[in-house]
Amino acid sequence: MLRLRFAPSPTGYLHVGNARTALFNWLMARGSGGTFIVRVEDTDAERSTAESEQSILDDLRWLGLTWDEGPDAGGPHVPYRQSERLDLYRAHATRLLAEGRAYRCFCSPEQLELDRQSALTAGQPVRYVGRCRQIGPADAEHRVASGERAAIRFRVPESRDVLFEDAVRGTVRFSTDVIGDLVIQRSDGTPAYNFAVVIDDAKMAVTHVIRGEDHISNTPRQLLLYEAFGYTPPRFAHLSMVLGPDHTKLSKRHGATSVAEFRAKGYLPEALANYLALVGWSPSGGGRHGGGATREQTAQDHDTELMSLAEMAKRFSIRDVSLSAGVFDEEKLAWVNRHYLREADPARIADLAVDVWNRTGVPMNPDADGRSYLASVMPIATGSVDRLDQFPTRLAFLFEFDPEQALEDPQVSAEMSTAGAMAVARAFAAAAANGPRLDRDRFRALVNEVKGGTGQKGKALFHPIRLLLTARADGPELDLAVPALDRGAELPASAGVPPILGCRERAALFLRVLDARASGSA
Ligand code: GLU
Repeated sequence: MLRLRFAPSPTGYLHVGNARTALFNWLMARGSGGTFIVRVEDTDAERSTAESEQSILDDLRWLGLTWDEGPDAGGPHVPYRQSERLDLYRAHATRLLAEGRAYRCFCSPEQLELDRQSALTAGQPVRYVGRCRQIGPADAEHRVASGERAAIRFRVPESRDVLFEDAVRGTVRFSTDVIGDLVIQRSDGTPAYNFAVVIDDAKMAVTHVIRGEDHISNTPRQLLLYEAFGYTPPRFAHLSMVLGPDHTKLSKRHGATSVAEFRAKGYLPEALANYLALVGWSPSGGGRHGGGATREQTAQDHDTELMSLAEMAKRFSIRDVSLSAGVFDEEKLAWVNRHYLREADPARIADLAVDVWNRTGVPMNPDADGRSYLASVMPIATGSVDRLDQFPTRLAFLFEFDPEQALEDPQVSAEMSTAGAMAVARAFAAAAANGPRLDRDRFRALVNEVKGGTGQKGKALFHPIRLLLTARADGPELDLAVPALDRGAELPASAGVPPILGCRERAALFLRVLDARASGSA
């Protein structure tokens, strides 16, 4: 049974590149009926924070990447936080010391920095010079007993090749000659990443490690440690980086990079997960050519690219992950998001939209009636926007109606002062005043009546009506907007939705403003 893990360091937010790493591990675990583990790598006490851990776990949960074993979920290999496993690492370091495979290193940080500088000046690879290699164990223990601080270094065998089969990159070969003896335990007693990760992956029986290619040079070091302990290493797959549009590593310079930021911008979790999977994975089995998802694809490609997590898990194969780096294309993400916005249950979208309104200065607390009303108007926005944060603007016509302000626009006031537009406005207002609230059919009938009465048609008919009812020169189709306004006007205050002015009230108000302006300027 496959066991895969995601091992975040809680030193910041979850970057979308790391989210993709988590996703690929999750897909491989779920697709094979295996186990997905979250392990928190928090041995860097200075940079790790509980808030960061919390936010990373929240983001994973939000994306739908549930785990079977982890810091909160527990599991057969507790604890799942490295800071709670220090005894295990120390015991392993002690074992390597006893076997002569590791030694104490007394070099000070200043000394190591000097070594680094001289290697750089001499144009040589930076690696530990081996100064403490020859200190005998008895000597070393004596110095430690008398209070000297020492790190523990692993003795890297000289002049050997370390080989491994990377599931994405094929055979990878490193010579140990470029690898200096590595610190496995720092002088403060905490384990180094390369050490803790090996012990944990081995003890947690991890079978496959999918991670970023920034870790590829760590892998030979880790393999040497597996060998020293006699542990079976997992299979490795190193993913190419996620790049920005300018083909440099996706970073702050490119805008949003964290899952939390994309969430706040109004992307749905299923859209972000689906899109991230496509950055580097070609589900059609196209293999190792493409550089990630581009927009120049056929409609058919698009159909096969839109997948739920469950479907992706069924289809995922690490063999279909591309060796070339994937470019993060926010326009394509927006396209995927539009699809999911349209597919989603309007009630769910309405709840999310309420959060956005509340965050952006339109406070509301809808009850069941209010929520079902809002759900009914969601299609007006889902058909035409990319993201949830665009909903308030798209739907602002519901809660805002300001003819004075609209008429400040010279184009609007010029249009509304033509005889034709005035005739349409008066006829519409008069007919609406006496009739019932408008649904789509009644609205169409009323428009026909106005058309017959005024002789106006097309834009000359519809545009004045749009201005009259929304005080905006453009917006959603009136067929949708008008019934939404008139249903909103019938909501009781207790529905918890900001007041919505109905069409007849709007038309009357607009005319009053027009008349006042006309008499004012007369
Ligand atoms: N804590 C490491 C990181 O966040 C994990 C690397 C690995 O997967 O081994 O980069």
